[in-house]
Amino acid sequence: MNPLIRLSIILFALLGYSAFAAPARLAIVIDDFGYRKSNEEQVLQMPAAISVAVLPNAPLSQEMARKAYQSGHEILIHMPMAPLSKQPLERDTLRPTMSKEEIRRIIAQAIHNVPHAKGMNNHMGSAMTADLAAMKLVMQTLSHYQLYFLDSMTIGSSKSILAAQGTSVQTVKRNVFLDDDQNEAAVSKQFNQAVKMAQKNGSAIAIGHPHPNTIKVLQQMLPKLPANVVLVPVSALLPSAPLVDYPQHHAPDTEKTKKPATLPDNQLAATQPIQFVNPCPTQESLNKINPSAAYSTLKNLLGYSPAVWSIYSYLTYCTVSPPVKH
Ligand SMILES: [Zn+2]
Repeated sequence: MNPLIRLSIILFALLGYSAFAAPARLAIVIDDFGYRKSNEEQVLQMPAAISVAVLPNAPLSQEMARKAYQSGHEILIHMPMAPLSKQPLERDTLRPTMSKEEIRRIIAQAIHNVPHAKGMNNHMGSAMTADLAAMKLVMQTLSHYQLYFLDSMTIGSSKSILAAQGTSVQTVKRNVFLDDDQNEAAVSKQFNQAVKMAQKNGSAIAIGHPHPNTIKVLQQMLPKLPANVVLVPVSALLPSAPLVDYPQHHAPDTEKTKKPATLPDNQLAATQPIQFVNPCPTQESLNKINPSAAYSTLKNLLGYSPAVWSIYSYLTYCTVSPPVKH
């Protein structure tokens, strides 16, 4: 069969199929970075699509933020905010009674202490985030720095989303806490709930901490993520984020974005750039269609559906270039 006709048939078949096969997007954030070096370094060994939230006044804040950046992870400032309950607080915890100037100073210092941050989420904060006036001051400050806000949802009556209205700050909410109960079985159950929520709603955000059992569960379960779920950084779930072209991790030019060894292909797609190919010149022989270039075109048209990739791989290897036997 003419290769162009064959490609067209595949294209139209996959267009119909892909409408039902768009992968669900799951963002996982590991909070409280800055205190437990070896645990946090284990998190940084995980897929780069895992985001990390760094406390701004911890002993290792700058060091861990730099390491996270170098390994391609998205970074959030884990901003201490006042809780309703009495408990030991981090230095420069934001409180509802603070003035605009004080909130600005503390956020500016936090941005300095956590280099390369793209967003902010709250550490504790059941009192602060429930205060609309105070959260408006936070959002007005964040709008000057182009940081998004992930509401950790430590209280159901949080006003963060309302407070951001009328500003340029984009907001998202946490859906699942992975390790309120640090028991391994409990963390696994929460992880599965986050996966199911992503599959049901199209996306989900889970927050965990660098506890040994959380790390263990993630190491075991991330490589086994269902094929229809893709791991993404938090910024991929912002209202303005494109559905298919997930933002690239901002590793420095000299540092190649980490390609996680254990990450399945469907998740690697989220960390790889879309490559556009030039249209085939009509005067060229139709037999010169290159399978990889054709796949790039299909990828751009159809998105990163693993199901699409599976079908295309099968059709390509069975009809264009048989796999090499080792
Ligand atoms: Zn925290």
